[in-house]
Amino acid sequence: MSRETLEFQAETRQLLQLMVHSIYSNKDIFLRELISNASDALDKLRLESLINKELQVDTDDLHIELEVDKDRRTLTVRDNGIGMSHDDVVSLIGTIAKSGTAELLRKLRETQDAGASQELIGQFGVGFYSTFMVADKVTLVTRRAGESQGTFWESSGEGTYEIESLDDAPQGTSVTLHLKPEDSEDQLFDYTAEWKIREIVKRYSDFIAWPIRMTGTEGSDAPLNSMKALWARPRSEVSDEEYHEFYKHVSHDWTDPLETIHMKAEGTFEYEALLFVPSRAPFDLFSRDGKRGVQLYVKRVFIMDDCEALIPQYLRFIKGVVDAHDLSLNISREILQQDRQIQVVRRRLVKKVLTTLKDIKTNDPERYGTFWAEFGRALKEGLLDDTENQDLLLDLMLVPSTAADSTSLREYVERMKDGQKDIYYMTGESRAMVEHSPHLEAFLAKGYEVLILTDPVDEIWVERVTEFDGKPLQSVAKGKVDLGSSEIPEEQAADFAPLLTWLGEQLQEDVKEVRLSSRLTTSPACIVGDEHDLTPTLEKMYRAMGQ
Ligand code: ADP
Ligand code: MG
Repeated sequence: MSRETLEFQAETRQLLQLMVHSIYSNKDIFLRELISNASDALDKLRLESLINKELQVDTDDLHIELEVDKDRRTLTVRDNGIGMSHDDVVSLIGTIAKSGTAELLRKLRETQDAGASQELIGQFGVGFYSTFMVADKVTLVTRRAGESQGTFWESSGEGTYEIESLDDAPQGTSVTLHLKPEDSEDQLFDYTAEWKIREIVKRYSDFIAWPIRMTGTEGSDAPLNSMKALWARPRSEVSDEEYHEFYKHVSHDWTDPLETIHMKAEGTFEYEALLFVPSRAPFDLFSRDGKRGVQLYVKRVFIMDDCEALIPQYLRFIKGVVDAHDLSLNISREILQQDRQIQVVRRRLVKKVLTTLKDIKTNDPERYGTFWAEFGRALKEGLLDDTENQDLLLDLMLVPSTAADSTSLREYVERMKDGQKDIYYMTGESRAMVEHSPHLEAFLAKGYEVLILTDPVDEIWVERVTEFDGKPLQSVAKGKVDLGSSEIPEEQAADFAPLLTWLGEQLQEDVKEVRLSSRLTTSPACIVGDEHDLTPTLEKMYRAMGQ
């Protein structure tokens, strides 16, 4: 078969440029990325061999191998995992399918600040391409388990790659980095030094469940990593750093998590869970096909990514692992959804996540503020269907109001005026729009605080949630608001009667009723919705959706 030269997809090319000119200061992590990929490939092969008895592969010695050639200045990472087909290589290595790539690149172009770019790249996680920070040429040879043809791939990261089919390639994947010359100057960046490799593996990949071996050295061939499943170890024995590196492996994020949650349940249904709250929202948090981040293991065997049975949609940003002991390896997503035990686990996980967030809110308001800014909008979605945790979710909410940049509902209640029975809110497209609304006038005049709700999801949850802490939630833009204020004197009402009748006739196509109101102070008139009407923003939303 002949060798072809193909072009990288435009977005890939731009990301590669960033890597080639390496704006990321911690270059060591390229090895973590390659080992992480190799480990995933081994997980996939083991699972496939357990499920598919036809697959003729030897799984007795699944492992990761590192090989250094000082003379040629190469470093090779090899695994005997699932491997890739020719098409896999083109689509997985030649293109970036990650949602948010275009957005990331736009932001990177806009920012002039090196620190900010690093952070963006870190959030995105460039995976395989990080190799181009340290190599000026990368060669990949792979063969998918069960297939006879292998694939050769090579690139210098400059816009094109070469690809060719191979008749003989070992099953699995090997990635060879031709290291850049300048790195040899600096001892710290000498990736041909055995001690350096050992140190990086120990630091970033110790928990990897497969043996990572160094070949071609005089030393022993004992694994460089301890291979202990982090979630099975007692909390007291695991350092924050180890947790953080594990988080980066499961999340593909390069930034440390905001919080780690480690649980163990014993009894009739045993499981361990190691969950993380990320510190930054992913780019695709609100895209339709956004994935959930919890992986399912059964007794240390990886079963699936993105396990929707374990975590509700509104907590899709939570990352981590649940290892359940008494499930079949063959379990399908459909069966999982209906499994009673799994439903119990899911309930506990949700409770634990929410109470952990509550603790952060109580003990570390500043950190909680960061969390809320990133994930608050997703959390509010929980108010739409998680009725069981409604109170907890309301307690976790932070919203702006006419009296504060950000307040919790509890703080609002504490500030309520004597005689104020309701929690007042107004929804709208922006804070400025709400603040200038005539609906607010009478409330502000009386010194009442009004919550300002401007997220689209706010329009929906306020319809479902009727009260907090026994206090009804009341829109200032709906119905006859009882401010306990003056009745309109009869003679004044009589004076205005002809005007009201005339207005009613003029506007009969547009409004249900024209009435005299005491809710305004300076504006002459305003439009209010009926108690059960859609708000203007919701109406707009439904119309946009074609309903
Ligand atoms: P990510 O790991 O976040 O998906 P990467 O850039 O690290 O992104 O890898 C892209 C894809 O290439 C992986 O999802 C996987 O499908 C494939 N891949 C990479 N390395 C290997 C490997 N060693 N064995 C099999 N497939 C691999
Ligand atoms: Mg990866």
